[in-house]
Amino acid sequence: AAEGPRPAALTLLGPVPGAPSCPHGPALLFVKSSQGKEEGRRFYACSACRDRKDCNFFQWEDEKVSESRLAAREEYNRHHQPSFTHRQNVDRYKNFVLLPSSKRRFCQECQQLLLPAEWEKHSDHQFLCGITNAQLKSPSQLLYPLENKKTNAQYLFADRSCQFLLNLLTDLGFRRVLSVGTPRLHEMIQSKASQEEEFRVRSLLLDIDFRYSQFYTEDEFCHYNMFNHHFFGGEVARETCRKFLYEENDERVIMVADPPFGGLVEALASSFKKLMAMWKETEKEGHDNKEMPMFWIFPYFFESRILGFFPSFSMMDYQVDYDNHALYKHGKTGRRQSPVRIFTNLTPSMIVLPEEEGYRFCAVCQRYVSSGNHHCDLCNSCTSKDGRRWKHCVLCKKCVKPSWFHCNICNCCTLQKHSCGKTDVGCFVCGKAGHKRSACPSL
Ligand code: SAH
Ligand code: ZN
Ligand code: ZN
Ligand code: ZN
Ligand code: ZN
Repeated sequence: AAEGPRPAALTLLGPVPGAPSCPHGPALLFVKSSQGKEEGRRFYACSACRDRKDCNFFQWEDEKVSESRLAAREEYNRHHQPSFTHRQNVDRYKNFVLLPSSKRRFCQECQQLLLPAEWEKHSDHQFLCGITNAQLKSPSQLLYPLENKKTNAQYLFADRSCQFLLNLLTDLGFRRVLSVGTPRLHEMIQSKASQEEEFRVRSLLLDIDFRYSQFYTEDEFCHYNMFNHHFFGGEVARETCRKFLYEENDERVIMVADPPFGGLVEALASSFKKLMAMWKETEKEGHDNKEMPMFWIFPYFFESRILGFFPSFSMMDYQVDYDNHALYKHGKTGRRQSPVRIFTNLTPSMIVLPEEEGYRFCAVCQRYVSSGNHHCDLCNSCTSKDGRRWKHCVLCKKCVKPSWFHCNICNCCTLQKHSCGKTDVGCFVCGKAGHKRSACPSL
């Protein structure tokens, strides 16, 4: 296959009908562009993997693909599906839980629950013994978090943030959660539901990490790609999702998504819109002008991009913390450092943030804000995005980061260290001019 341009300079033209497929479902159409103009040939590439090492699918849009290559590709795609089906994994689980503790093994190399007949095959692999029911109920602790930076880095919620999200959802009266890329939230809901009689929240996990199919039934987990809205389980899985979104007995549903941060915001937005449309099509009275409630968990510097796709959304000040992310964890000092926020289409005043963590309610803005976020009378809003106190620039007529200063040559506020006049292309991450994605000060 020909060598395509580097992802950083790419524009996504979207999921398009009739796109060719790789093992991760329909590919996305891209084009290289500069200054908003398309440059060069359009091409298809894998939706899920932005590292060629993980999936090297590539095809020019106008490329003629021979019958034999098509056949080889289909064969390749089939071959690159997981070795067990979800159904098989469910059956294996049923057998696994019947085993006495001494015979319950989990292969750490294959990330797989082992049945005694399979021990032999994994004899020179590292494994864990005596897997408990509690461990089976928290697969996100048992499984190794995937760490591939470009494709599938898994950042798991710190217990406190997960607990906060769950309390928030239940306090808001939601009884069903469509957990998109949030295995830890899903698992917290599942285990609470199995332990507490009066806890009636249900969750359906949609995730590309097929390892989870070992622990959940087809009604609890769908193998799903959120960059192209692809259900690997086909129409049956799609129907499971549709059924889940149907609000029987007035059990209100909310979607919670915590996608990888690498970009492709438009692909995510497009999939979320399709999930919202699915909810809408379940045809409940009263849905007419409503949007499916959603929490989209994402860094604050994507605010303008997310709001561009979802004008009804607003960003909450709550800082979402992660367990395995060195940068996004609460420091020893207790200072919050995470850039990750909740974007939601629910009324901001309803999102109550914990006062014991320093959040307060701003009566003017009608929302909870960080302790460091001061209300600016000139902007008439609490303007800080990162939790630090921002300063108002009278020339820019807005508040800016404390570290910025007003450059008279560029005629705007920016970092002290910048090259004046370099304002051609906007950054892929924050949309601001003057730097490329790789040099984005937000990252
Ligand atoms: N904070 C969450 C995990 C977020 S990490 C929690 O603790 O529950 C991002 C999640 O998205 C991972 O579970 C990962 O497997 C999933 N993911 C990554 N790429 C995906 C894709 N293309 N489609 C669906 N899920 C994906
Ligand atoms: Zn305010
Ligand atoms: Zn201001
Ligand atoms: Zn300024
Ligand atoms: Zn930037």
